[in-house]
Amino acid sequence: MSKKARPEKNFKSRAGTAAVWAGETASGFERATQTPVIHSVSYGYESLDEWNAVVAGDAEGHIYGRNSSPTVAVFEEKVRHLEAAEAATSTATGMAAISNTFFALLSPGQRIVSQKDSYGGTSKLFLDFLPRFGVEVVMCDTTDFDEFEREIDKGCDLLYLETPTNPTLKVLDIARLSKAARTKDAHVVVDNTIATPINQNPLTLGADLVIHSATKFLGGHSDAMGGIVCGRSNLVKQVYQFREINGACLGPMAAYLLIRGLKTLELRTQRQNESALTLARFLQSHDGVDEVFYPGLESHPGHEIAASQMRGFGGVLSFSLQGGEQIIGAFLEKLRFAHLAAHLGGVETIAGPPKTTSHCETTAEERAELGIPENLIRYSVGIEDPEDLQEDLSAALGSI
Ligand SMILES: *Cc1c(COP(=O)(O)O)cnc(C)c1O
Repeated sequence: MSKKARPEKNFKSRAGTAAVWAGETASGFERATQTPVIHSVSYGYESLDEWNAVVAGDAEGHIYGRNSSPTVAVFEEKVRHLEAAEAATSTATGMAAISNTFFALLSPGQRIVSQKDSYGGTSKLFLDFLPRFGVEVVMCDTTDFDEFEREIDKGCDLLYLETPTNPTLKVLDIARLSKAARTKDAHVVVDNTIATPINQNPLTLGADLVIHSATKFLGGHSDAMGGIVCGRSNLVKQVYQFREINGACLGPMAAYLLIRGLKTLELRTQRQNESALTLARFLQSHDGVDEVFYPGLESHPGHEIAASQMRGFGGVLSFSLQGGEQIIGAFLEKLRFAHLAAHLGGVETIAGPPKTTSHCETTAEERAELGIPENLIRYSVGIEDPEDLQEDLSAALGSI
């Protein structure tokens, strides 16, 4: 295929088309239609002038694998397009994206306003690491937006949101809270991992940066780790400059797997949105189930906000069982179509409790403080036939 037949850099399309075509400007190599996995640490130049121009950023090209590389650049471009961002930079994992963003943008004496139940690794940064570097972190009650506004008013350099939350699927009002942060010139950063760019685009709601653990839905096949930060060019550049020195770069093989996964992101997300809603309704109507957390349910306290800022409600739900923590193990072991594993966002259904999944890095006391119930099951809906998943849940519930 000639280069001419490929879409231009900022082509306009719907998300399904963008997932397939965005960033696919390669390869030139032997007329391969697919982006090659370029395993090269360095890139050679025939003239010193040309080499200098690339180093100075005046010409396109790559220098050294820790800074940038061709396969990784295609991955970044795909997600940049899906999030309608000015720029994007990738990292080795989602946590590298999150921690590099904090360490690149903040200085001692500054203040983060965030929520109580962030992802476990993020909470750990808030509780242990950032305070040691003189960064103050205030964690508000996740759904008390008045408290957020009061805390922002007291001083805020960075507003950090994650919505829907993991694992209790609480919903934060991105537009309202971004507006409050704007009055303090604070940066607004949103972890969009659970929603996916198909369901939610925080940049269009007022955020400056959006972060993904690409390990989850973006890759979708549970075989590669990665992270990405997208948004305003000046901020992305600061994160990139910190990351290239800090060294947490994405490798070419992981980038290739993530590109391959991304091509079906829109298809997978539609299926997972539909199945999760069906299963949430089923669980809600079941006698053995205590509470179901899914923003697509009309009874969910965040449903209205979710409906206004999301196009679909995502593939993750959680629920508690009648009988509490003791019967979780018996129930989980009965599931035929679910990996019991610390992960989410894959093509296979994945289930587990917070203490061995999203919050395995935190202690029981920290989970209590963060408002994470111990008797919860997080259920990441895969792309299996929803009828089979429902029968599976029904059989496991019937057996306990
Ligand atoms: C998994 C996850 C992360 C961390 O990503 P890794 O790729 O595991 O480092 C961050 N935020 C959310 C919401 C996650 O689910």
